[in-house]
Amino acid sequence: MLRQSTQLFLFLFAIIGFAVITPLSEAQAQRPSGPPKRSITKVTGDVYRYQNNFHFGMLVETKDSIVVTDPINTSMVKWLRGEIKKRFNKPVSHAIYSHSHGDHNTGGEEWGKDVEVVAHEKLRAEVLSGKARTGYPTQVFKDELIFRLGGKTFELKYLGIGHGTDLIAMVVRPENVAFVVDAVSPGRLPFRNFRGVDIDGLIEQIKVVESLKFKIMLPGHGKLGSKKDAIDARIYMQKLRARVLAGLKAGKSTKELVKTVTMDEYKGWGAYKPFRPLNVQGMAAWLQK
Ligand SMILES: [Zn+2]
Repeated sequence: MLRQSTQLFLFLFAIIGFAVITPLSEAQAQRPSGPPKRSITKVTGDVYRYQNNFHFGMLVETKDSIVVTDPINTSMVKWLRGEIKKRFNKPVSHAIYSHSHGDHNTGGEEWGKDVEVVAHEKLRAEVLSGKARTGYPTQVFKDELIFRLGGKTFELKYLGIGHGTDLIAMVVRPENVAFVVDAVSPGRLPFRNFRGVDIDGLIEQIKVVESLKFKIMLPGHGKLGSKKDAIDARIYMQKLRARVLAGLKAGKSTKELVKTVTMDEYKGWGAYKPFRPLNVQGMAAWLQK
């Protein structure tokens, strides 16, 4: 009996613990019913973006092969494999992962053992520990990695700790398209209440994105953007931080701040209504840590 109740306790603890440490992902928060919305569309030159509902990845056609980015999930990889065969008839040679969060990066192993997996070195540890259920990175780097392949140059840059600990951005040339996931979503408020995010680190991550040379931003969420979207996203974060901090210093409660920090100039941005109060709450919690 004692053993049984101990087992039950451990079981419940495992479930509750899992629920507590697993942030609600974009996919869980916005999962529509019915079959997933999927597509591959041309961005410019040999650069394409692929979509699985609210998640996007980058695909690059090189002379002899295809380079993909985040797998998103196993079923998406299976779908992509079929589409790539039909549209390009070239093998997938590389998969470059933006970061280890499960909503962007699950099921990468489905590409098979012949695909070179490139990611930040911290992502390899996430795979080894079983936290990230995706392909094992065969090539990792610390700060930056540049490689050439079939007429294209891939410039990978580590963004530091902020949104996650293993987030990178990637620029493809000669198209000058940057693949940027989660640090910036063009024309849209940041996701919910910054759960699990180092907010000051996130501002620094956006600054690194701003320092890259590119023309088009291909984000992991939302519409295509440009350098200006990174600048705007950083200014939003800095304004939000300053306004919430000023309110806290004036002795206002988080409840009052949700009412007064209205961020009016961002009313035209996506997710303003649902995310603005949560952004204020998250910022207040971060600043009071
Ligand atoms: Zn993420």
